[in-house]
Order: sequence, then structure tokens, then C-alpha cells
Amino acid sequence: MKRVVWILLIVSVIGASTWGCDSVSSGVEMDRYSIVVDAGHGGVDSGTIGVVTSNKESDLNLLIANALGEYLRQAGVKVTYTRQTKEGLYGELSSGFKMRDMQARRDIITSANPDIVVSIHLNKFAIPSRRGVQVYYQTGRDRGETLASSIQDIFNTHVNLPQSGRGYEAQRGDFYMCRCVSVPACIVECGFLSNPDDDRLLDTAEYRDKIAYYIYAGIMNYLMKR
Ligand SMILES: [Zn+2]
Repeated sequence: MKRVVWILLIVSVIGASTWGCDSVSSGVEMDRYSIVVDAGHGGVDSGTIGVVTSNKESDLNLLIANALGEYLRQAGVKVTYTRQTKEGLYGELSSGFKMRDMQARRDIITSANPDIVVSIHLNKFAIPSRRGVQVYYQTGRDRGETLASSIQDIFNTHVNLPQSGRGYEAQRGDFYMCRCVSVPACIVECGFLSNPDDDRLLDTAEYRDKIAYYIYAGIMNYLMKR
């Protein structure tokens, strides 16, 4: 039986009352889709570190990725994770481990043959006041740009504006995780661990769940545009 999930546009879906929502709706057959959720870093590669909490980016990425995957799974999407533990994917810790880790992620994505790849990271910046969520895509990949903008728009409406006074554009660049696959891919930098307020917020399960939910809503908006 086809499973149709009714989406509330802008900030969509199930449980939307938690975060507030608008009430325009459209149907998307979610069980048609397969999505890879990639939690960045892991193992000895902890990524950036919280300026106040000393939280590791790798641990927070995993928690947000799992929360996002759960929203997608509940909607009927086939979800593949690149990692579900704190370990990296590089095997033995020896020279070239970072590239082995990236290639292992690429191999997981290739065999999952997904419609979309979303990679979860956290940011840092030399100016501590910089905060909020920024989404990145591979230069020249139009569908990746559309996906990134769909997610960025949700954050600009619901998270970035109250915090930073302005939204961000989806940012282009050169990223292995986006260029190693042909399907639309983006990297969501879910906040700045160099900003004390973002760092403290990301220390709470409630805020991480909110971030996961908005990424989910952005993915839904993208799927409705296809
Ligand atoms: Zn990172």
C-alpha cells in the first residue's frame, strides 16, 4: 500500500505544533525515497569542539543524524546511516585514515543508491558572534543547490533570523561528500560550536531535535519541488 504523508509547507509535517507551523499542505509518497544521513567525523576525528561545553562535534553530529533519520523513517523513507556509533569508518588508525574514512562513506552511499544525501556537521569561525545554521552544496550541482536552499530557507525563517538578525544564502564550495555522488547532496552545518549560545543550545536534546526536524522539513519541501 502506498504510504502518503501529508506535508505542511514552510514548516511541515507531523508534530509541527511543537515548533509552530503554517497550514498549507501537499502529499508526498515518502516510501518512494531513499536517503543517506551522514554523521560527519567520528573516532579520533572529533571535528570541532564546543567553546563552552567542550562537546565534540562528532558526538553531536551523531545525535542530530539519528534524530533526523528517525523523522524520515517515521515518514516511510528508507534511511541509510553512514555511521551509528561514535567510531570512525577508517578501520585501523594509520596514515591516510581520513581519506579511508571518506571513501568508506562514499562506498556506503554508492551501495545505498539513494535519492538524496545529507551530511551533518557543526561549524566554527574566528569571530565568536557568528552563529546559526548554514547549508552547503557542490559548486555546479543545480539539484544540490535546490536541496541546500530548501533546507536553508526553513532555517532562515525559523532559526537564523531571531538569533543573528539575518539569514544565510546556501553556500557553494568543493566538498568530497557532495562531489563523490551524482545525486543531490548537501552539508548542513547545524550551528557554530565557536559561538557560546549555539554551543549551549546544541548541548540540549530539545534543540538538537528542533534542528533535525527543520532539516527534515527542508527535505520535504525539496521533494515537493521535484
Ligand atoms: Zn565537521
